Amino acid sequence: MCHWRRVRNNYKRCGHYVDLPDEMIQCDDRYCKFSTSHPRNCVPPRCTETCWQYRQFPEQYNPVIDSFCPVCVQAGRQL
Ligand SMILES: [Zn+2]
Ligand SMILES: [Zn+2]
Ligand SMILES: [Zn+2]
Repeated sequence: MCHWRRVRNNYKRCGHYVDLPDEMIQCDDRYCKFSTSHPRNCVPPRCTETCWQYRQFPEQYNPVIDSFCPVCVQAGRQL
């Protein structure tokens, strides 16, 4: 089912974290109200019984990036 992805970049060189805007991850699940595969004729009350009605809890994603964060780079802090 569809869910939000919350990305927080971890910049290894300076140890700073940078939060990115939340990203919407689409699924193609027929039983998900937000999916493009969801049939148009699937409507309440049936839909509420068979399909996901809510997006799922955000997935946390913390990639480690081997460089300085943009703030540090802008401040001229480089190798
Ligand atoms: Zn979905
Ligand atoms: Zn439905
Ligand atoms: Zn930094």
